[in-house]
Amino acid sequence: MQKSTDSGGNLARLAFNDSDLDRHSEWRGQPATLQALLDRTDARFIGVEGDAVSAVSGSPDYRRPNGLGSDTALFLGSDPGECPWFAYAAPAGAELLQLRPLLMSGALPAAELSRFAQARSLVHWHQSHRFCARCGLPSVMQDGGYRRHCPSCGGDHFPRTDPVVIMAIVHGDHVLLGRQAAWPEKMYSCLAGFMEPGETIEQAVARETFEETGVRVHSVSYVASQPWPFPSSLMIGMRAEAHGLDITIDYNELQDARWFSKADARLMLSRQHPDGLSAASPYAIAHWLIRDICQDAPDQR
Ligand SMILES: [Zn+2]
Repeated sequence: MQKSTDSGGNLARLAFNDSDLDRHSEWRGQPATLQALLDRTDARFIGVEGDAVSAVSGSPDYRRPNGLGSDTALFLGSDPGECPWFAYAAPAGAELLQLRPLLMSGALPAAELSRFAQARSLVHWHQSHRFCARCGLPSVMQDGGYRRHCPSCGGDHFPRTDPVVIMAIVHGDHVLLGRQAAWPEKMYSCLAGFMEPGETIEQAVARETFEETGVRVHSVSYVASQPWPFPSSLMIGMRAEAHGLDITIDYNELQDARWFSKADARLMLSRQHPDGLSAASPYAIAHWLIRDICQDAPDQR
């Protein structure tokens, strides 16, 4: 479920799901191997600053930056041509390309966008975890960027991924969608929320849906997932059935939540709704979750 033709007739895909890098985790514990990869003239480099990647003349800049050493180069993996790829924190003043407009533009091959997701999440983790969470003293990068070690207490820390449940809720011919105040006007999407410790994915779907809309669900099932590097989420796409249509909105979380007919939701996905309503773009998993549910004709349920 990863291809669609958008309103402009372009092929649009779920972003960040198509990495072609072999991560070669077996090399991460071999400093000499990593140094040899870093020294290769065909090595490629992705600079990251916030939600942006380094650029030159408006295009991604994969050239070797000045002064990058094995203590700061994060090894992403090797591409199908065996070129090694690294990520690094872009220096102040570097030309940058913001990731969100880049993914919306559809201008880049899917594999390149997916490399950016890995680079952006990994760089962010190092920038925000420079000190040991156990003893508070500085830690050092190891394993090509996939571990930080604390020389003081011996603690080891590993890159984090934050799981988020995102769900299409259905009841008969209706789909439950919500919107946040910060979103573009008239745009609706799936409910979503961070998973909590000690919780199953199914429990998180039920809890978040109830907290945000007062709707109780059952028959929760997995559909698909998507890395979402803002900064390091994993979107776990789910669907569930609602027990009823009554909604009680938590206005701290949502500006609005409504049941839409599947016909309306389909028009929102294709940006052809008569009231100007829209739903998530094909680059986000929410689009595909809504689309998946709307493909069920009412009489088949
Ligand atoms: Zn420590």
